[in-house]
Amino acid sequence: LKQLKHLIQQSTQDMVIGDKLMELFEPTKFSTDLDYLQPFRLADHWQLDRRAVLESFVRGCQVGLFALHWQSHCPHCGNRAGQHSAISNIETTQQCSVCGHDYENYLDETVEVSFSVTPKYRKTGVFTPTVALFKPKTGPLFLTTSPEHSGQKVTGKDCLLLPLFREVFKDQTLSEHQSLNIRHITVLFTDIVGSTAIYHEFGDIPAFKAVQNHFDILRNAVEAHQGVIVKTIGDAVMAVFHDEADALLAALEALDGFPYNHPDQKFQLTIKLGIHSGSAIAVNLNDRIDYFGTTVNSAARIQGLAGGSELVFSEPVYIRWQETMKSGDWVNYVHQETVQLKGLLSPVTIYRMDVLAWRTHHGSLDSSLNHGNCQTVA
Ligand SMILES: [Zn+2]
Repeated sequence: LKQLKHLIQQSTQDMVIGDKLMELFEPTKFSTDLDYLQPFRLADHWQLDRRAVLESFVRGCQVGLFALHWQSHCPHCGNRAGQHSAISNIETTQQCSVCGHDYENYLDETVEVSFSVTPKYRKTGVFTPTVALFKPKTGPLFLTTSPEHSGQKVTGKDCLLLPLFREVFKDQTLSEHQSLNIRHITVLFTDIVGSTAIYHEFGDIPAFKAVQNHFDILRNAVEAHQGVIVKTIGDAVMAVFHDEADALLAALEALDGFPYNHPDQKFQLTIKLGIHSGSAIAVNLNDRIDYFGTTVNSAARIQGLAGGSELVFSEPVYIRWQETMKSGDWVNYVHQETVQLKGLLSPVTIYRMDVLAWRTHHGSLDSSLNHGNCQTVA
């Protein structure tokens, strides 16, 4: 019991979450399917923060309390197929063994990540895996599963967009020829203005140091808004987010740190950013999960349209922008344009925001953002 308590402390620093997790290991207190633990469902039931509870489960896997499972839900009949330990076992398309329909897997719709209590820490004789999987039990706190709880699933996308998950489960990547659909993801690209000249003029070491610091500023802003940095390409950064509002807030928060003046250097770094959203596919590139498709290509090209200290975004992002930035005179600093993006047949509408001009008149960006509003507007 002492060891168990110690491992739970390693999984979460939050005492309340720790107490709740402890109950999972005392089946007389908490009666549920120990082979199918759903962190968001439990968080809602416990009235705790979903992300914090999910992070505790991920850390719990690291110390051996829990095991992680990937499974696919048939969109036609709701049947839950498989409990795979690796994302690489999820097929792009599959046939439901119950209703016979073929369906495509979507990381943000059909693919769920759940957890189980590992056999080592399970009290024997109370729950056996076969009974727990197929026969619902009764009890005051038993959580049954029904379609109305589908919004409480931790999806594959929820996990892939959790920095802690990417850190703990580095080995969770797709197989070489596997690709999985994502219905909706927001992509942010950033790049440094004139970095070649900076390296040339000020030398490799000072420039390198400044670029590393600039990565830190971007990483902090991205992770503060539920995003992850997928990769850096030279001095450019690609990050993904759950939705457009998160990406916008991260971009504006990042821009607050620029132009970046390194304390020891005589030069400053200026960045340019672009945001776009839509469907994508997740693939394996260099043993890491990466994202591809028209949305990603367009996001990169939209970023390419930005000048120094400019944020350029597409129509779906603008819709969320209007909801997020209700107050203030933002509209005076955002200009609509119609452009032809390479690789696309029809012209697209983009919005260009001159962040520096706005800040010259208003000061810090962050203090002007309507954070509360962003969370409540659906
Ligand atoms: Zn089915």
